[in-house]
Amino acid sequence: MTAPEPERDAVPEPERGELHALVARLYPICRSITGDGVRRTLQIIAEQVPLEIHEVPTGTRVLDWTVPKEWNIRDAYIKDAAGRRVVDFAACNLHVVGYSVPVHRRMTLEELRPHLHTLPDRPDLVPYRTSYYHETWGFCLSADTLAALPEGEYEVCIDSTLADGHLTYGEHVVPGETADEVLISCHVCHPSLANDNLAAIAVATHLARRLAAGPRPRYTYRFLFAPGTIGAITWLARNRDRIERVRHGLVLACAGDRGPLTYKRSRRGDAPIDKAAAYVLRASGRPHTVVDFSPYGYDERQYCSPGFNLGVGSLTRTPYGRYPEYHTSGDDLGFVTEEAMRDTLETVWEILRVLERDRRYLNLSPYGEPQLGRRGLYDSLGGRSDTKQAQMAMLWVLNLSDGDHGLLDIAERSGLPFDVVADAARALCDATLLEPVKEC
Ligand code: ZN
Repeated sequence: MTAPEPERDAVPEPERGELHALVARLYPICRSITGDGVRRTLQIIAEQVPLEIHEVPTGTRVLDWTVPKEWNIRDAYIKDAAGRRVVDFAACNLHVVGYSVPVHRRMTLEELRPHLHTLPDRPDLVPYRTSYYHETWGFCLSADTLAALPEGEYEVCIDSTLADGHLTYGEHVVPGETADEVLISCHVCHPSLANDNLAAIAVATHLARRLAAGPRPRYTYRFLFAPGTIGAITWLARNRDRIERVRHGLVLACAGDRGPLTYKRSRRGDAPIDKAAAYVLRASGRPHTVVDFSPYGYDERQYCSPGFNLGVGSLTRTPYGRYPEYHTSGDDLGFVTEEAMRDTLETVWEILRVLERDRRYLNLSPYGEPQLGRRGLYDSLGGRSDTKQAQMAMLWVLNLSDGDHGLLDIAERSGLPFDVVADAARALCDATLLEPVKEC
């Protein structure tokens, strides 16, 4: 028997503007790889989908890494001689280099300069900088702001703490019929940057809601909201005994800009997720890019490290570093759109639908064609093109269901739409001409 499949029209839609509203709510929070900004972010996500929150102590060994000290910040500024805040963390949290150690002193502009980061090429934008594993402090400001600062003495303050604490991440699981898992992962460690990565957090959150609201899926879906690199490494270290359950996965990032979608293949290059994503993007008929794996980017670097080599790809719109607003104050609420986030959401949904339905079958009557007309499967009077397509799909499914070819393989080889092929397989199963190959 085949599993009940989600009704296409029954999926709950995000309300108008809902994705952007979640991004806007998360935007002001100062996040880093540890600290209260991540906790607050997870709390807000947890209002929409239940999260299991994990707190991993500083100093915990995780694969080749160690969970760092926890960083928290309350305030930071540079004040001029008149006591005016010329750089103010309260106005924009990008102004402080992430993981800055505390400082409070008076300095001349010349002494301060080595601690100041600007973007000379984009003098109106504030850059985003971090220094997680080298203890230092610094400020980021627009080159225009720096150019306007007179020489003289300034009061510099970063009211932060870097101390033993925890690394925090959140998980949400949608149980499926099998223990085989699909991992959806996104990083939650960037401060006020909308596309990188609040848009993906919003897309993943709504995807989780949609999955939970529908019929029980075939796969179990695990959503991971974790700080980049160290969070994924921590999760992998703590889940080594069950990593093999992860059959497919997607790292979501940069999900809300106006550019076309980009899918980056897993290290394997031919994993089912690679085929499904390429198929869905191609079938959309819209501009898109599919690129090969490279050991750089987001947390696909960890999931696709050779020891794990998971079938995890990455979906973005414009990839990291390819848009001028990347890692700057230009990646703001105006840079991401509801429409783009919905488009990303629908595309992921389509990819998951293909994964859910794609499986291998066995033709139970493989010697000659079975007589379809006798079983009511071949409409001899039919002339409608969709009927013809459905009949062609049955012939293809019967012919290639030798246990080696999956439905997506059959759709690609026949040139027929995947849904038509999957519907044909279902009809043939109902007529006991086909049965799914048992998966180990
Ligand atoms: Zn980033």
